[in-house]
Parts: sequence; structure tokens; C-alpha cells
Amino acid sequence: MRPWVLALFCIVVACAAGWLGANYIPRLSDHDGYFLVDVVDPVRVPLPSPQPRVTLVVVDGLRADSALTMATVARLREHGQCRIADVGTYTVSRPIYALLSTGLEVDRSGARNNDETSALRAESVWQVATAAGLEVGVASHLPWWHQLFVTGFARTVEVAKDEDVFHAAAQLRTDVTVIHPVYVDTAGHAFGAASPEYRAAVDRVDAEALAWLQTVDLQREIVVFTADHGHVDAGGHGAQQPEIRGVLLCVAGPMIAVRSDAAAIDARIVAPTVAVALGLRFPRNMRALDDDLDALWTIFTGLDAEYVEDRRRSIDAFRQRNAEALAGWLDDGQPPTWNALADHARRARYWRIALPLALLAAAVGFALRIRGLGARQGAGSLVWIAGTLVVTAVVWVVVRGSFDYTSINERVPFIRASLLICAGVAIAAAWLHVRVFADPARWAADQATVTLIAIGLSLGHVFAFGWPLAFPVPHRFVLFFPFLAATFGVVHGGLGAAAALRWARSR
Ligand SMILES: [Zn+2]
Repeated sequence: MRPWVLALFCIVVACAAGWLGANYIPRLSDHDGYFLVDVVDPVRVPLPSPQPRVTLVVVDGLRADSALTMATVARLREHGQCRIADVGTYTVSRPIYALLSTGLEVDRSGARNNDETSALRAESVWQVATAAGLEVGVASHLPWWHQLFVTGFARTVEVAKDEDVFHAAAQLRTDVTVIHPVYVDTAGHAFGAASPEYRAAVDRVDAEALAWLQTVDLQREIVVFTADHGHVDAGGHGAQQPEIRGVLLCVAGPMIAVRSDAAAIDARIVAPTVAVALGLRFPRNMRALDDDLDALWTIFTGLDAEYVEDRRRSIDAFRQRNAEALAGWLDDGQPPTWNALADHARRARYWRIALPLALLAAAVGFALRIRGLGARQGAGSLVWIAGTLVVTAVVWVVVRGSFDYTSINERVPFIRASLLICAGVAIAAAWLHVRVFADPARWAADQATVTLIAIGLSLGHVFAFGWPLAFPVPHRFVLFFPFLAATFGVVHGGLGAAAALRWARSR
């Protein structure tokens, strides 16, 4: 092999790795959704009591332990209940707004990044309310809610981050309102959840929310108060750390049971809770089966028995329709549940994972073989190659806390950290190679082999998990891998080209 061929290969790979990395975020989402089941839910018995005004407050990035210190929460608890709500394993903001609005889990809603601005196909409770003739408004620091559900909001107010979103919402006076402040999340990203800056942001939201709450008549209005996710102490979210996925959910107002013993619940309960409070049908794609829907009757109290009976019948109908749809997608004998469908899909793609791995192993073996390395030399190169990969991952976990979405925190700091870590390990590995083996041709070839593995795994990821990313979302390490693999490929591709040029000069 000539040096310039190796150099060219490495440059092409570096470009391809960078391109795959830049396109990974868009690859995650498909707003058409996956395995959606449409269920028609006629409300046969109307809500007999006067329809209350309902407000959902979502404090972006508010950790449960911080929420529990808020005076707002103490006041809501006097008029209802607070409990831990599990938002699931994919704790990214826009996807969780979709989950709270539809009652559908992130994996099937198809909202899996913050960048995709198209409307979601899954139906939200906001659209149900609008179609029923209610006026629905949203006051937020972001346009994301009405981007997701274009037909869900008659009134939208987007205010600057230094402005009070609760104050803006109070001007709306809509029948149903979403209030969404984001500066707690901003502080979490910039300073971490253990910082005084995060504390100050929580104090600010507490003051703003409390002032707004003074204007709310909790005898006649229902307030649902929650968060989309928490933050780790160092800042960041996206994966399934308990302080991120377990947020506080408070419900207060008329028809709400006052209780201090409320058990943890699935956050998907928010959309059906809003529907029951307003006497509306459930949003049509709401998850039923492996669900927490019976917990609705631990939230409400004193509802008309016939109304509750009708809503229970609807939940049964949802489960029935979901089971029928699942039976069509599963083999005979498998229980018709969403967890079974996920297991089924995972098993069906084992070969798609195994095939690229086998091909890559064969390519690496072939690359070592055509170089005519002896067994000892081949083993030495393999140890160096594997060491470079493993040490990069270990340093990442030591510096950034985990090998998952949470360790990204924010885009620009992530790119900077991943470049520094990949390049730092790569340069140390190159230094070691030059000292131990003292062979420019061998360094160039080994460096090119690392590059080959980086691109092989990245392309294998696309083959195995699809474009857009298929159902179900893979294990958190596998989900995160392409983010770091992109920088790794760029760094090692560049270094491989440099090694090849050094080899060319040494000849
Ligand atoms: Zn965030």
C-alpha cells in the first residue's frame, strides 16, 4: 500500500465521519411516529360538574428535589397532591413535551430531538380541546409547543427569557393554558443542578409561579405542575439518571384528591388527566397496555360515578384496540403488549447488528494480514488499536460522567470536549506507538485501521438501527455512540493522514 492511498482513505473517512455526526440529530426523529394506533373514544357521559379552567405548568429542567423546596409546590399540595412522575429513558425536552401532550411514549411518538420543527402526527390533548370548542393557549420562552401541535393552540405567546411567562399567560385567560418557563434548564446546562445559579433560577420560577397562583381560584381551576426532566449535578440530561427521569408532578384544584401518600406514576398520565378534568375524549394515540391509566382514579375524587364508569370503559376500549393492533404485528403466542413488540423488534434486528460487526472484524483481519505482520507484531498492533478505542471511552466517562446522552449537555461544549478528549488520547497513543514500535509505515497503517473501525462502526450503526432511527430506540450506550464516534473518526482520520505523510517523507 502506498502512503498517499492511506492518506486519501483517512481524509475521506474523516469527512464521512463528520458528515454522519452532523446528521445524527436529524436522523433520530420521525414525526410520523411508529406503530401508532388510532382509537375513537366517544364520551358517552359528559362531565356533569362545570368545566374547570385547566393550566399545565412545565418548568423546563426542574429537578424534583429542587421542586420540593418551592413555596408554589407547598401551596399546590394543600389543594391536591404531588408525586414523582417518570418521564422515561429518553429525557430530551421536545420529545417530553410530546409525551406530556399525547400520553404516548417518546419511542413511538417519533419526537426524539429538539431540532425537528415539523408537526407531530400523534394527537395531543390540546388538539382535542380545540376541536371541542375550547380556547387553548400557550405561553412559553420557546415556539416548540405550537410547532409540535399546530392545530392545538388558538393563542400563543412567546416571550424573551428575561420576561415573566406566567404574567404573559395571565393575560391570555384561555380555557386551557400551557405555561412553560425555560430559564431553569438554561441554568442547569450552563452551571449544573448543584450550582447557586440553578438555585437562583428555581427561586425566580417559584416567585413568578407563586404570584401567578395568587390569581388562580383553586376551587374552580385545576393546575397541573411538572417538569420535562431534571439535570445531573454537573448539568445535562437526555438519558435515564434517576434525578433526571423522576420529576415532580403536582395536581391541584376541584375534583382532585388531597393526599400526601400518592405513589410514583408514569408522566404519560398528564394528557389523560387534562382530558378527564375537561370532560374530553382521550387523545387518540394515547398509550394503552403496559400503562398506568388506572392511576387516574387516584388523582380525581368526587367525580360522577357514571362519568367515571364511561371513562373506564374508554380505557378498556383503548387497551382492546391496542391489543388487536399488536396481535397483527407480533407472532402467535406472544403477549400483545408494547414491551413484547419492542423485544420482538430487537430480536428481529440481531442479524443487522451481527452482520456489520462480522464484516468489520473480517476487514480488520484482512488489513493486518496483507501487511504481512507476524503473530507477535499483529497482536501488538491489535492491542494498540483496542487500547486507543477503550481509553478514549474510559476518559470520556471519567471526564463527562457517563457514556450516554446526558454526557453531551450542550452542543458547543460537547464538540469542544469530544475534540479535546479524542485528540488528547490520540496524540498520547501516537506518541506511545512511535516510542514502542519506531516504525512510520506501521504507525500509518495502524492509525488507518483505527479510522477504518470508526467508520465501520458508524456505518454499521446506520445499517443496524435505521435512518431515521427505528423502533425501539437502542440501548443508551448504543444511542450515544454515533455522537462520539463522529469526533473520533474526524480526529483519527486527520491523524492517519498525517501519519501517512510522515511515512512518505521517511521513505
Ligand atoms: Zn435542556
